[in-house]
Amino acid sequence: MKTLRLGKTGLMVSELGFGGIPIIRLGFEDAVEVVRHCFESGIRFFDTANVYGDSERKIGQALESVRDKVVLATKTLARDVEGATEHVGYSLENLKTRCIDLYQLHNLINDDALNQVLAPGGAYEALARAKADGKIRFIGFSSHNIATAIRACRTGLFSTVQFPFNFIEHDPADDLFKVAAEMDMGIIAMKPLGGGLLERADLCFRFLQKFPNVAPIPGIQAKEEVDQIVELYRSPRPLSEADLAEMETIRSQLGTKFCHRCEYCMPCDKGVLIPQAMAFRSFSRRMVPQAAIMMADAAMESIANCEDCRECIEKCPYGLEIPEVLKETLALYNDFVKQHG
Ligand code: SF4
Ligand code: SF4
Repeated sequence: MKTLRLGKTGLMVSELGFGGIPIIRLGFEDAVEVVRHCFESGIRFFDTANVYGDSERKIGQALESVRDKVVLATKTLARDVEGATEHVGYSLENLKTRCIDLYQLHNLINDDALNQVLAPGGAYEALARAKADGKIRFIGFSSHNIATAIRACRTGLFSTVQFPFNFIEHDPADDLFKVAAEMDMGIIAMKPLGGGLLERADLCFRFLQKFPNVAPIPGIQAKEEVDQIVELYRSPRPLSEADLAEMETIRSQLGTKFCHRCEYCMPCDKGVLIPQAMAFRSFSRRMVPQAAIMMADAAMESIANCEDCRECIEKCPYGLEIPEVLKETLALYNDFVKQHG
């Protein structure tokens, strides 16, 4: 498999990476086998987060014997120095390594979150210290908000940016990725399969192959999925006219229902947790059912507060009919709970 340079980190990573969410659904040994299979198939870049259940531990176990051949990335949701320091310690232990290649501040949802992590006593301070102590090599961040991500890039404090990127969510290519490239940052594409909502892997990865400086990290949970995706990298081919037409059809079908979790619609005066509620559809496909239910619980309850004022619709740059999609998502959630709860 080809490699790409992850911006100013200088790390060379396989052009296809691995995202660590879906393996939380698997038993320990099965997950370890899937991760090993990824390594044996040429994947050398593994990304996870310490909030993803036992994902770090499974990856650590699978890759311990080949640690020097892989690039390990993880993240913390902590916003303060104490929390982030503690998380770096957990991650080192879980991943069975003395040094983590890339440690990211997870999900900088808006400017407040960015300001919080960069303030004195914020999580960035912990990562800078861990870097000085040789516990991590580089500091990055992930986000779903383009404006905040651009601001974070421009601080010059981060070596990488991780953002959702696929043929439905392609806006980052217009401005964010250009800024990141100007700053010589590594670019990591999360949700290359739309968080499990896009079924045509061939279209997804052929689209991504048009961006050779972007490292996709699909969530993988089965050996067959690894084989299918790796094959698309072994025999790349450009998108055909028929592919483009199919992508357009999928875009128009999903277009007004696909939440980018950018948070531009927030806050809602009635306390509806819009992006968190919208995320349930993707959670339900990628997480253990009980974890998906638990993570969505508060957001689903908040839907009852919606008074259909439609203010959020005006703020959503993607034209989502938010109250209607929320109702559909709640119905899906209730069915899911009946089935799995
Ligand atoms: S329509 Fe519902 S979710 Fe949207 S702003 Fe109004 S109350 Fe909040
Ligand atoms: S509903 Fe619209 S504005 Fe709100 S998070 Fe989703 S895409 Fe962004």
